[in-house]
Amino acid sequence: MNENKKLMVVLGAGESGVGTALLAQKKGYAVFVSDYGKIADKYKAVLDEHNIEWEEGHHTLEKILTAAEVMKSPGIPEKAPVVKALHEHNIPIVSEIEFAGRYTNAKMICITGSNGKTTTTLLTYEILKRAGLNVGLGGNVGKSFAWQVADCNFDYYVLELSSFQLDNMYKFKADVAILMNVTPDHLDRYEYKFENYLNSKFRIIQNMDKNGYFIYCDDDPATLEKLATLTPETNWVPFSIEHSVACGADLTDNGQTFNIHLNTINDFTMNINDLSLSGKHNTYNSMAAAVAANVLNIRKETIRECLTSFKGVEHRLEPVLKVHQIEFINDSKATNVNSAWYALESMKRPTIWIVGGTDKGNDYSTLIPLVKQKVKAIICLGVDNTKIHAAFDGVVEHIVDTQSMEQAVKSAYYMGTDGDAVLLSPCCASFDLFENYEDRGRQFKAAVRNL
Ligand code: ADP
Repeated sequence: MNENKKLMVVLGAGESGVGTALLAQKKGYAVFVSDYGKIADKYKAVLDEHNIEWEEGHHTLEKILTAAEVMKSPGIPEKAPVVKALHEHNIPIVSEIEFAGRYTNAKMICITGSNGKTTTTLLTYEILKRAGLNVGLGGNVGKSFAWQVADCNFDYYVLELSSFQLDNMYKFKADVAILMNVTPDHLDRYEYKFENYLNSKFRIIQNMDKNGYFIYCDDDPATLEKLATLTPETNWVPFSIEHSVACGADLTDNGQTFNIHLNTINDFTMNINDLSLSGKHNTYNSMAAAVAANVLNIRKETIRECLTSFKGVEHRLEPVLKVHQIEFINDSKATNVNSAWYALESMKRPTIWIVGGTDKGNDYSTLIPLVKQKVKAIICLGVDNTKIHAAFDGVVEHIVDTQSMEQAVKSAYYMGTDGDAVLLSPCCASFDLFENYEDRGRQFKAAVRNL
């Protein structure tokens, strides 16, 4: 390692870590990558190919503490001993987005929120791409942002940002920021204080100026409460499905027409029934993406075409198959109460609901009215289902416990009759029985196909 170069330490060698390592090397840093777990072979190969030093299974503190700066992958919590040691030595820690943002002049369209990030990000990206812009997709989805900054030359980026990425962002400036909603999630990483999590989400607007646009949901109480304490330094553009807004996006004609009016006249109108993604939550997502595209002056026709044809994203209310008139829907990505609420809300058929997994401190009480109205049976799928029983015993007639996806799908199928829906919308993380939510969703689809 060249002693004269500044050392960039990268903690965590996943997509964002390896991307950051490549960019840092390109920008003249000496780079050391350290991962406490195992590094995937495909990433080891990339690091080796670029002669980037790495370690796995431990962190060599003596070396890490000589860093000029550290990039921490979003999965590593603040309480990890290596992070504490870095703080004690006053070594600056940044996120991939902060680091890579220094090396591009592209326009940044950034999306955060507790739910709807990926869907809105992909929808926005799709519109920009279809409009012919030279645009990259990054953050929590797709390829690493830093990697693309190293290898590509995009004029725009659409970035999905989690609160963990936002936590280590300081100077980065979004040009267009979207905040979908803020409801309790990941509180274990925020000292169990909702306020901390909310503040983290609001970092998305830090540094924005009068040329920027902050697009937010005017129906989200937490967002509004926080905004009441702020003075706009950028253009605030609300969207709402519940009331009209003076300047932003709303619905008229009894909720049938979606309008964007950034001035007094309607810039954009569209029939809500033409949106390809159904459910109230997806109306929000479609609105947010359309407003972002609108402020970037993309043709209305292009926006409309994309909102009409967008296929949706795997594991998000994804229709799987109809077996003997029973419809199976995969919403494995619903890992918190709010997302499951929207899934249940969108159900039009009597529903058999597969729920459970690793509980993140859920309060299920907000779901009870919807469950009473729409759910005919609950299939618990988790190692420990006590909280689900405590919340719903007596609310629905049938609750059964299962311990594998195959068992859950078979039980649901046997309980179902023509015209029912079976919805996997687990409300919980997946790590008790599955590798991750994708694995859970794939196992669901495989079990359905095997019926
Ligand atoms: P994220 O990236 O924020 O996790 P996704 O688009 O991946 O969001 O969706 C995650 C889950 O939340 C899915 O179950 C989806 O159906 C649901 N969902 C999507 N958009 C919203 C929204 N605007 N509000 C609430 N739930 C949503």
